[in-house]
Amino acid sequence: MSRFLGRNKLTEKQSKALEALRELHDAEGVDGVTQVYAEAVSKHREAGYIKRHRLKYAPVNKQCSCFFLWGKCHGACDRLADHAALFNREGKPSIYTAQPYHLDLEDMRKFVALADEHALEVMVTAHSWHFPGRTLLMTVHHRDQFGEDRWP
Ligand SMILES: [Zn+2]
Repeated sequence: MSRFLGRNKLTEKQSKALEALRELHDAEGVDGVTQVYAEAVSKHREAGYIKRHRLKYAPVNKQCSCFFLWGKCHGACDRLADHAALFNREGKPSIYTAQPYHLDLEDMRKFVALADEHALEVMVTAHSWHFPGRTLLMTVHHRDQFGEDRWP
């Protein structure tokens, strides 16, 4: 019986993993289970995102939000949110991501204002790779950048 697989039954491997995770939960609680889940999926999720959207991490010295917004650093850098990164596509700043543990009202207002000011799309999903299961993935891109591919 599964709450998340619809009518599908657990495979043999899933059943074994579920049993192991339940034992882990009994010993270490939800945090222990979440940490193991995060270890199992983090690198794969990051690599999948990068491959799917044909991205490369921007060079470390060009990761500030300025490069995303203006193409060069203006000195008044703001990482916008925790665990931020800038990705290039075809050599140009393309997608800014942040993976915060939470968003409060002030954070959300900041992103709405930024999106309105700079014609940005902002999406928040649960598909983060920085501690999956604990963080959110925010993606920010310029509204006219992806055409039909609306949500990178
Ligand atoms: Zn900057």
